[in-house]
Amino acid sequence: MVSPAVFRFDNSFARELQGLCVPWQPANVSAPKLLFFNHALAEELGLDADSLAGPAGAATFAGNVLPEGAEPVAQVYAGHQFGGFSPQLGDGRALLLGEVIDRQGRRRDIAFKGSGRTPFARGGDGKAAVGPMLREVLIGEAMHALGIPTTRALAVAATGEPVQRETVLPGAVLTRVAASHIRVGTFQFFASRDDLENLRKLAAYTIARHDPAAADAPQPHLALLRAVAQRQAALIAQWMNAGFIHGVMNTDNMAISGETIDYGPCAFMEACDPATVFSSIDQHGRYAFGNQPPIAQWNLTRLAEALLPLIDDDPDRAVEMATVVLEEFPADYHANLLRGQRAKLGLRRSEPSDDGPDAELAEGWLDLLHAGRVDFTLGWRRLADAAAGIEAPLRALFADASAPDAWLGRWRARCAAEDAAAGLDAKVADDERARAMRRVNPRVIPRNHRVEEALAAASSDGDLAPFERLLDALRRPYDEADELAPYAEPAPAAVTACYRTFCGT
Ligand code: AMP
Ligand code: MG
Repeated sequence: MVSPAVFRFDNSFARELQGLCVPWQPANVSAPKLLFFNHALAEELGLDADSLAGPAGAATFAGNVLPEGAEPVAQVYAGHQFGGFSPQLGDGRALLLGEVIDRQGRRRDIAFKGSGRTPFARGGDGKAAVGPMLREVLIGEAMHALGIPTTRALAVAATGEPVQRETVLPGAVLTRVAASHIRVGTFQFFASRDDLENLRKLAAYTIARHDPAAADAPQPHLALLRAVAQRQAALIAQWMNAGFIHGVMNTDNMAISGETIDYGPCAFMEACDPATVFSSIDQHGRYAFGNQPPIAQWNLTRLAEALLPLIDDDPDRAVEMATVVLEEFPADYHANLLRGQRAKLGLRRSEPSDDGPDAELAEGWLDLLHAGRVDFTLGWRRLADAAAGIEAPLRALFADASAPDAWLGRWRARCAAEDAAAGLDAKVADDERARAMRRVNPRVIPRNHRVEEALAAASSDGDLAPFERLLDALRRPYDEADELAPYAEPAPAAVTACYRTFCGT
């Protein structure tokens, strides 16, 4: 069955890249029920939200009734998973329905996750459970509200069917919106098969879609690599400034677009510690919080390898050129990180050098949070209070209230110098600084215990109220409203110490 036009599809991937995907249909499910619909995103996409929010939407978003114009395909890709190469992955339980041009003229993928087995399902059942799909909604919307590039959930529909995991769980289909689903692993798939024709087609498509300026560069594929690397440098810097841990940064989970993609065992760090790992399958800490920047560079190196045959016919020359781009990554990342840190520290003026006194000031602050195992989010947020002269809440985060003395002294001196140079009155400058800091240092993030509580209620009791309340809070991360207080506090330390996220999503 096909429903009337609600999405105005224009399916360039299915049309232009036939060798890179296979047409496939979503499974029919027995009892579709809409659990979540993203009105704001539907509006952004220019969809008729009214016709999708009701029962027709349930049938559409569960995969029973394809929207008119959809041409569902399963995309192929490969990928390095925890460092080992899997030559054949692909959409095992996902389908790209097509693309829509949004109100701002951006091309966005509309895709299902959990819509049944495909030819790439390997041993998987093709299904997804309610809990992990609602988790993707929560974390994705939180990231979006924090201004971090991310894929977003348009809808989640329950299927009314059981999914066998460690226990039996209720099934669901997620509808995901992405700038595209092209991954590092998509390039690896064709490169590893020496399929230069499709590799070239994929690269041409990617350049046209994501980096049109690269087409005019002296070496377009090198320009593509540089553009992807620059987006990742910016993205990972944002993750690091928000305390976000992706958890499974395999090359098939790194999007060329620079959006955060694939919310599996991800979580926000609470007590500050670069070694933090939540994922149950990340036993060696490969994807620990502090490892994310070098892992991003490692993944980009895999992308570079895949692009080498397109960069230059002479392999040595190609390696030389790609190496130059890859070696720009650390400095680019640090520049992005420091830009974010300056804002978080309430500094308006940038010092000329990226490894100068401001970088040391930021590092000193993180060392302090780490040494005291201080909650990362609260630490930053209460620094804003300190900017306005209220230091007690910040000091209360440390076992020894005098621990931040020396650092606070340095920070105040740096702030005062900046204010004096700008000719600002100290009191006015302090208040303005505190306000600016509260606009970039969130109060509300997806606290692990709150996320689990919301998902448990939705999954076991079909009670969506805690999920909806949490979602509402996550959409207002900087808000001081009293009713958000329960979402601003860290989990009891004992809960966080045992917290594990699972990939068996
Ligand atoms: P992920 O860990 O979600 O990034 O997925 C890694 C690979 O496993 C991808 O090729 C997925 O399509 C596939 N996959 C994950 N879960 C399932 C499932 N339940 N059924 C089929 N394929 C799956
Ligand atoms: Mg994935």
